[in-house]
Amino acid sequence: MLPFASVVDAQESLGRNLTYLELQWFRHTSGVSDYMLYCYNIVFLFIIFNLAPLPLVLLDVLQVRAAEKYKLQPGVHNSRDAVWKCYKSVMLLFFTVVGPLQLSSFPAVRFIGVRMGFPLPSFAEVVLHLFVYFLIEDYLNYWIHRWLHQGWLYENIHRVHHEFMSPMSFAAPYAHWAEIILLGVPTFMGPAMVPGHIITLWIWIALRQLEAIDTHSGYDFPWNPTKLIPFYGGAEYHDYHHFVGGKSQSNFASVFTYCDWLYGTDKGYRYLKENNRKEMIAKAKLNSLDTSWMEIDSLKPFPNHHWKQTKLS
Ligand SMILES: [Zn+2]
Ligand SMILES: [Zn+2]
Repeated sequence: MLPFASVVDAQESLGRNLTYLELQWFRHTSGVSDYMLYCYNIVFLFIIFNLAPLPLVLLDVLQVRAAEKYKLQPGVHNSRDAVWKCYKSVMLLFFTVVGPLQLSSFPAVRFIGVRMGFPLPSFAEVVLHLFVYFLIEDYLNYWIHRWLHQGWLYENIHRVHHEFMSPMSFAAPYAHWAEIILLGVPTFMGPAMVPGHIITLWIWIALRQLEAIDTHSGYDFPWNPTKLIPFYGGAEYHDYHHFVGGKSQSNFASVFTYCDWLYGTDKGYRYLKENNRKEMIAKAKLNSLDTSWMEIDSLKPFPNHHWKQTKLS
């Protein structure tokens, strides 16, 4: 809780006037305990879990024709029953695992030194912290995910997440409860190593969840702003991991692609993509079609799917 009774007190303590954002922070959080501030996180997560996947899931379930050319596995759609089953399972996990984990981890957040008061973080500090959190999470997640694809761990834990061979956004957090806890470690590790402000932590948890929703969407839209992020894997990259299924030893990374490249776990994916591109160009040439767009288009790695929906049909 802010240790100031009034704005004047806060200004005297800081030795300067409060900025506009600090003033808003004071108005909305004075009198709110640090624990409650931390608990806002679970409210944000609940809203994101429920609302962010909706438009993408509706495109999938309603099989919207206009969006079909962006579907990573065209013609493969999740049924309403599958979506409902997934949603119920995710909500059960939310209330029995994610929520309690969040509510009980406050002492750890306090211990690592996440600050809740003034000064608020600058824009540069937030961006820098988020960048570091993404890097740390991505690296640790890569190894844990790779580990989860080994024998017993896959059969007993990670198999649940792979029930969706053609993923959809609601399926981003669809997993065994043990996997939720395990993958919570990389998410927490960034703030633990480089603690920042609670605002940065809220943004971090929200962005991490939105990123997972995006990569499980099943759609690859060319206007997706994440395409501007260097080394960002995105929906196509992770969709391939689900498409190949349990035997997949490829595309383990959660956010960026460099770990898979570094450790050689994207070779099959790259080979298939390149092979499909060559085959597609050969077919197009056979039919005297323009192939120039194929040189620059990022082709889907899924054989016998996207081609039917494109210019070759
Ligand atoms: Zn996997
Ligand atoms: Zn996944």
